[in-house]
Amino acid sequence: MPIHVTIWNEDSLQETHENVLKVYPQGLNGVLSSMFDGKEEYRVRTACLCEEEAGLTEEILSDTDVLIWWGHCKHWMLPDEIAARVQAHVLRGMGLIMLHSGHESKVFQRLMGTQCSLRWHENNDKERIFVIEPHHPIMRGIPAWFELEAEEMYGERFDIPAPDELLAIGWYESGDVFRSACTFSRGYGKIFYFQPGHETLRSFYNEYVQKIILNAARWAARNRELDRELHSDFAPPLEEK
Ligand code: ZN
Repeated sequence: MPIHVTIWNEDSLQETHENVLKVYPQGLNGVLSSMFDGKEEYRVRTACLCEEEAGLTEEILSDTDVLIWWGHCKHWMLPDEIAARVQAHVLRGMGLIMLHSGHESKVFQRLMGTQCSLRWHENNDKERIFVIEPHHPIMRGIPAWFELEAEEMYGERFDIPAPDELLAIGWYESGDVFRSACTFSRGYGKIFYFQPGHETLRSFYNEYVQKIILNAARWAARNRELDRELHSDFAPPLEEK
């Protein structure tokens, strides 16, 4: 069974700013979906805030094994009932990969139960990402550290609950550090937060950023075998009295 991936963005290509299109001519949904090109184990669709029900209908979410999220300025425009719907699907087993500025999305805040705020500046800092858990499936094939030529600085404190696993730490040439790759579980769902991916910088072309996102899609994907457990709550006695 292929892994059904839905990649969500707050902008359609038409709405995407010129300075973003200079770096990513197909927009963020375009560059993110191109990472899966030629990979037969995944089936990819894209969705956008501009679509009916923000592109996140019950039907689409039920058919999604892992949802990849990129949002920045329009978090407030996502209707609360859609955020609640996405949260409910995660609790029932849908995987979620929250990229970069998605940290302040309604969906992430609901799932974390905190504000998910952080310190930031845009100064095109070089970033060096250090892998903390090299044996984790998401970090498979990633060197001990790698560099991004320029990123938006995201610094501590990142207002999240302690992650289940801290997979990487980012260091910026301006002096800050950040928990750049974190995993969480909520209900039956697996969640991965990953910091790189500012819209006017080239991080999504980096081979290791791409590999981490692909690895994470496999790691977080819904386990369909659990569906039976999810749909039966009556428990007959296991022992005779
Ligand atoms: Zn950004």
